[in-house]
Amino acid sequence: MSGLLSYTEAAEQVARYARELLSQSRGTERVELSEAAERVLAQAIVADEDQPAFARSTRDGFACRAVEAVTHAWMPVAGATHAGEPPPGPLPAGAFWEIMTGSPVPADADAVVMVEHIERDGDQVRLRAERTIQSGENVVARGAQARAGEILVPAGARMRMAQIAVAATCGYATVDVYRKPRVAILTTGDELVAVDADPGPGQIRNSNAPMLAALVAAAGGVPWVLPTAADTAEALDAALENAAAADLLLISGGVSAGKFDLVEPALERRGAKFFFTGVRIQPGKPLVFGALRATGPDAAGKENVSVPFLGLPGNPISSAATFRLFGAQVLAALSGSTELGPQFVAAQLAKSVKEKPGLTRFLPARCEFTNAYGGFPQVKTVDWNGSGDSPAFARANCFLVVPEDASSMDAGAMVRILML
Ligand code: AMP
Ligand code: MG
Repeated sequence: MSGLLSYTEAAEQVARYARELLSQSRGTERVELSEAAERVLAQAIVADEDQPAFARSTRDGFACRAVEAVTHAWMPVAGATHAGEPPPGPLPAGAFWEIMTGSPVPADADAVVMVEHIERDGDQVRLRAERTIQSGENVVARGAQARAGEILVPAGARMRMAQIAVAATCGYATVDVYRKPRVAILTTGDELVAVDADPGPGQIRNSNAPMLAALVAAAGGVPWVLPTAADTAEALDAALENAAAADLLLISGGVSAGKFDLVEPALERRGAKFFFTGVRIQPGKPLVFGALRATGPDAAGKENVSVPFLGLPGNPISSAATFRLFGAQVLAALSGSTELGPQFVAAQLAKSVKEKPGLTRFLPARCEFTNAYGGFPQVKTVDWNGSGDSPAFARANCFLVVPEDASSMDAGAMVRILML
């Protein structure tokens, strides 16, 4: 086992490879902004004008010169502006200007008194005696949020609600995004039958294919589920031939040390380069990471593309964990995303954990998000029967990280989790 990489070493190796992928060029497509959620930007979103484009009131109230208003003198209301109206002319001396939230503030006004702080007497108004106002209050100056030409969202960012909102603000009805990578999912094993089949004695349904398809789609790839390959050299050779047309290849099963774990030799026959075979983690220790040697032009006519692959151990929790810990990074990079992850977050351990040191563990766990003010998310492991325990996995919503050198972690400790 000493020959195996630690989790950190393996993660760094994958991150290096992913950064290399990121620097390569990739195909783009233009999509409607309404279709852009979760897509990765191939262009920057640039401010088309100053934000805001005019000095804007943040309150319903009365625009004024603060130095005049603080005298609390009664003054006339020279006019009124609603949101959507063009900026009014200069504010006459010694006057207020009625104004609504979002409206342009008249030239020469430098503050807005909120309506609740105003006292009225016929058509005269004044700042209430107990209130004060300073220059700049309740006004967002032109360009205070961004200047025309400024990059507001860089290429490589994923479009989420806020990025969509700012793109809309700047007039992007469509955006250029990177094409989604196509991810081949090759499940292997003589024991596997299709989901709609009745397993015979000793057979099981293939749960990894739909699970990995869901993981791939959630991570921004297009799943390409290949027919399951039997545990024979011929079947694997044929399947790999086919799968080499993908941008990324996920192979489930057949990478352990058993007599019918024939995936590595099959990859070798195709001239694969192995970056590592095995990591000191549980679940997922037999994980294999490498790249198929370039065979020639790809579908887009690009020469010398090599296809990265991950050989995921076949147990469902092992497959899921190794994809989330390593595969998702490669997929993110192939998508052009600069957010490589994995994004571990902190939670508080609700029940102590004891493990033998020597492996970094990613235990299926359940995190409860307390609503109590000041409370931290509470996490505890789910009872499981090892990495084939799909029912236990279905009760989990995260992996709890137990560092390689930790033999125990006490209840109350802050720990790292990876949400599912
Ligand atoms: P392997 O990695 O091929 O040695 O498989 C390890 C365990 O995972 C075995 O018990 C397999 O039956 C199980 N397994 C392999 N592939 C799948 C799959 N696609 N769906 C569900 N279980 C699987
Ligand atoms: Mg197998």
